[in-house]
Amino acid sequence: MPSSLQIHMFPCLSDNYGFIVRDPESGACAAIDTPDPEVYLVEARKQGWNISEIWNTHWHADHAGGNGAIRAATGAQVFAPRDENSRIPDIDHELSGGNRLFLGGIEAQVIATPGHTLGHISFYFPTAKAAFVGDCLFALGCGRLFEGDGRMMWDSLSRLATLPDDTKIYCAHEYTASNLAFALRVDPLNPALLARADEIRARRDQDLPTVPTTLALEKATNPFLRAPEIARALGEDQRADWEAFAEIRIMKDGFRG
Ligand SMILES: [Zn+2]
Repeated sequence: MPSSLQIHMFPCLSDNYGFIVRDPESGACAAIDTPDPEVYLVEARKQGWNISEIWNTHWHADHAGGNGAIRAATGAQVFAPRDENSRIPDIDHELSGGNRLFLGGIEAQVIATPGHTLGHISFYFPTAKAAFVGDCLFALGCGRLFEGDGRMMWDSLSRLATLPDDTKIYCAHEYTASNLAFALRVDPLNPALLARADEIRARRDQDLPTVPTTLALEKATNPFLRAPEIARALGEDQRADWEAFAEIRIMKDGFRG
């Protein structure tokens, strides 16, 4: 019986979440991304944990920018996407979709989730039913397409959508309130979304996080995952699912609350 994953989540930078995960049996401890190394080191110390690994989802500075400082302070090994080895320095272990790795005795699976960046990966811990999805999937949102295209991102989201419905989704940013405004614009009659709207507003009014979310909740309310259904409701049933997704992504890019 593997020990159960410990997850410590905390806010950092303006709207990022930091995550440190640990196998209590072995003490192996991974920083999931490194937006703010000082905050990570303080949070690890508060927990009494020693960061031994860094697991990056993608190369952006608010995800991998603190690698060097955390490595210098802890000697942590860096696990990062092979396809971004030109953007992330000093990778010790290159990862690609389909790889399996272990945090101590706890298995994680690497899921290829390109689109926001070309090498973006996500980490899924089956026994903890937890997925760390970087800037691919957000509560009621998805990452901007800085490097990939709509078809690529739709494939990535579809891959995440095959995880069990009760998977906890750890998104890397608190964007939910602004995502909600857009979701209500494009999917205004969705009862699950309307119910969720009240809950989100109540949490944000108290400055509480809306992360983690669950895959089931996102499937029911996230306009990007629901793009094909939303297109069909508008009578646009001729297009491929990824085209419906791409159109909603473009609408969001131009949306000003
Ligand atoms: Zn990013």
